[in-house]
Amino acid sequence: MLNTPYYLLDLEKLKNNLYSMQSAFGRQWPKFKIGYSFKTNNLPWLVSWFRTQGVYAEVVSTPEYELAKITGYDDDRIILNGPHKGNETLLKVMKNGGIVNLDSFEEIEFLTENAEELKDAKVGLRINFDLEKECPGETIPGQEPGRFGFNLENGDFGKAVNMLKACKNIKIAGIHGHHSTRTKSLGIFTAITNAVCKAAQEIEDLEYLDMGGCIFGDKPGAPSFDEYAETITGIMKKHNISRDVTLIMEPGAALVASPFSYVCKVTATKDIKGTRLVFTDGSKKHIAPQMNNISFACKLPDMSDRQTVDRQVISGYSCIEMDRFAEIKNGRELLKDDMIEVMNCGAYTISLAPLFIEYFPQVVVKDNGELTTVREAWGTKEFLQKNIIIK
Ligand SMILES: *Cc1c(COP(=O)(O)O)cnc(C)c1O
Repeated sequence: MLNTPYYLLDLEKLKNNLYSMQSAFGRQWPKFKIGYSFKTNNLPWLVSWFRTQGVYAEVVSTPEYELAKITGYDDDRIILNGPHKGNETLLKVMKNGGIVNLDSFEEIEFLTENAEELKDAKVGLRINFDLEKECPGETIPGQEPGRFGFNLENGDFGKAVNMLKACKNIKIAGIHGHHSTRTKSLGIFTAITNAVCKAAQEIEDLEYLDMGGCIFGDKPGAPSFDEYAETITGIMKKHNISRDVTLIMEPGAALVASPFSYVCKVTATKDIKGTRLVFTDGSKKHIAPQMNNISFACKLPDMSDRQTVDRQVISGYSCIEMDRFAEIKNGRELLKDDMIEVMNCGAYTISLAPLFIEYFPQVVVKDNGELTTVREAWGTKEFLQKNIIIK
């Protein structure tokens, strides 16, 4: 049974995104792997579906690692990144042949202290460099330093390489270059790939180069998978990277943003100061949890026989004034019980939605016209789990 609000996953769109990315990069580089970024959308059904497609799990914490295991990923199909992996998890994934990209000297120290537990273990190093200098205005921290990885300019990267070379049970196998950016531009990937390839010159037994995620998928007007693949592999070829080296990408939003929508229902309307306020049983908390000011594209019912209204503002159930997520100018009037489908809701929504006023909505997968509930809505019972109340 469908109860609004709910998220709707169009499986055909998800397949299109995944297969077109795989073939775009596969045409340009012989060894290519995708690690799906769990944090972008950690719906258990979704991450288990990626596993059935041969995609690796890209995880950045012990709970994400546990989710990968429970949803069927073997350790050698896990990429463990991030500044807080958990030491036990770090050691386990390394022992079992997964990919671990180190982020700090403290992690290297922990590994050298526990090196006797390891045999022929491999690690990667995440690099940090001044991307803002090469692509002004395009990075998230701007003039502030990036937080992740070993800095190339201050000598940290060289120091990390030397520490690991001195450790006989561990060898460096890869370089990791993920950066979140505002623009996801081809210029960004030119700079990242150049820096990754330069850092790789220090590595003797190079097995993989991981360029991270933060690319566009099927967004109209944005760079295509083909363009990203040509840019990245073009630079790898220029640096004479061996074709035996595996190229890894870690997409999140590029795969999952567009296949998800969010369906809610009109509950009430009001006319105030020349604006028609349209209330729904959905919330901006579910589609833009960080409450950024995006006006979402919405699919509306057929309303051709209705009158036109100057301005309608679609808003949510919460008691937050700015829980408003779409504006319609000179459109047909929405009425109580109309269904509204908010498009492109898959990235950083389900994984970031709060338990605020109402709880997690239902999630439904559409495959060949058939609908399957893959997560039931949370109610008060689920909210109360692990809590103590005074009777
Ligand atoms: C967040 C993240 C990704 C995915 O980012 P998207 O913008 O969702 O593609 C990939 N790799 C790492 C290390 C990340 O932190």
